[in-house]
Formats: sequence, C-alpha cells, structure tokens
Amino acid sequence: MGKVFLAVALLATIVQAQTKETNTMREVEGAIDSRTFAVFDIDNTLISPSQTLGSDQWFEAQVKLQGFDKTLSKWLEVQKVTKVKPIEEATPSMIQRLQEQGITIMALTARPTEIANATRAQLKSVGIDLSRTAPLASSLEIEGKDEVARYEGGILFAGKNQKGAILIKFLTTTGIHPERVVFTDDKAKHTGTVDAALNAIGIPNLEFRYGAADETVKSYDADVASIQLQYFGGILPDEAAQTLLK
Ligand SMILES: [Mg+2]
Repeated sequence: MGKVFLAVALLATIVQAQTKETNTMREVEGAIDSRTFAVFDIDNTLISPSQTLGSDQWFEAQVKLQGFDKTLSKWLEVQKVTKVKPIEEATPSMIQRLQEQGITIMALTARPTEIANATRAQLKSVGIDLSRTAPLASSLEIEGKDEVARYEGGILFAGKNQKGAILIKFLTTTGIHPERVVFTDDKAKHTGTVDAALNAIGIPNLEFRYGAADETVKSYDADVASIQLQYFGGILPDEAAQTLLK
C-alpha cells in the first residue's frame, strides 16, 4: 500500500512539474498561443557574447577563481563593449513574429540592474526589442529578498533574487494575472523556481529547459578566456585567442 501511494505521489509530482527539455525555439514557439505570457531568460537562451569572455560559463568559472564581486565588475565591463549573437539564428525573427501576433513577451534575467542599457543595446543589435509587447510600459522597482530588482522596457532584472520569487512579486505588484505562462531558460534551477512559484499561485505554466547552448557551455576553454582577459580593452575573438595559445 505504502509503495503504491509513493508511486502515485511520485507520478503526480512528475506530471505537475511541467518542464520540458528542448534544443530549439521552434518547439517553444509551438507552445505559445494568444493567451500566453511568454517569458525568456537572456544569457544562453536569447543571446550570448560572440566570444568566450563575458559568457555565462566564463562568469561561473571566474567566480570560483576570483569571487563574485570581482568577477561581476569585470563581467560588467565586458558587457558594455562586447558584441553578441543570438543562440539560434532564428530566435530574433521568432520574437518579432510573436510580437506581431500581439503576444506579451518579457525577459527574466539574473543580470543586475546596472547593465540595463547595455542589455537593451545588445538585444537591439540582433534585432530584438522587448519593449514592443512588454507587459508594462512604465518601469518599476521591486523589493526582492536579496536586492532591489528592476523592471524596465520588457526586461525584469532579477539580479541575485530567485527568479520564481521575483516573477511572482512582479505579477502581484503590477496586478498582472496571466492566463498562462511559458518560461524558457537554459538553467534547470531557474525553470524549477519559476515552475514552483507559478504552481503555488495557481497560474497554468509550462517551462522549457533550453539546451541549444549546452555544447558551448560544456566545451568552455579556460585558457582562451584567460588570454582574452589578459588582452581585454579590445576583445580577441576565440580563434585569435586559440592561435595565440599555440
Ligand atoms: Mg541563462
């Protein structure tokens, strides 16, 4: 009896945890309809720097070497000058297509508030303008557990706050009650907290753990990043750094 109960409980958990694994935005787009509030992570989901330096995988490796604060200040410097590329070539046109259909779209990022302008410029450089069908035209500061988060132009900058918690705080503060949320992020911890938070307030939701950048993250080359850091002022492409390493 105990075993059967456990099996049923486990199954219920699996069914409720609406997280899908995908490597393509095409699948995400297929899950979005006119009642959907579509929320996207930024780094390694929509875009990444064109080179290793400044990438999310660089940030995480560097935190282990230099600590969070030092890494963050260097990361901020890099973001202000780096070129970026979409993770999938087709992503900017997908966002535009959804916006033309009037779908509400927002980004939910762990980026800190101070990088708001550079973030908008980076997205714009690949043809993404998240203010077009943003859930809210005005900007907004949100008191989070770990720091003050900020919403601006269709982007919610969570900073150190847990994404699920800050999304709920955003929805309750603004009085926005989506019929349904589809959230896409390359990190399972974020799809996890958003899934749990939306379930807790009863908003139907679907999460995608998006893996298009997984291979790049796995093949992170600390030597390339270290050369790029050494020459930072300009930015060496990965190929040039690799040549220098030889
Ligand atoms: Mg990410």
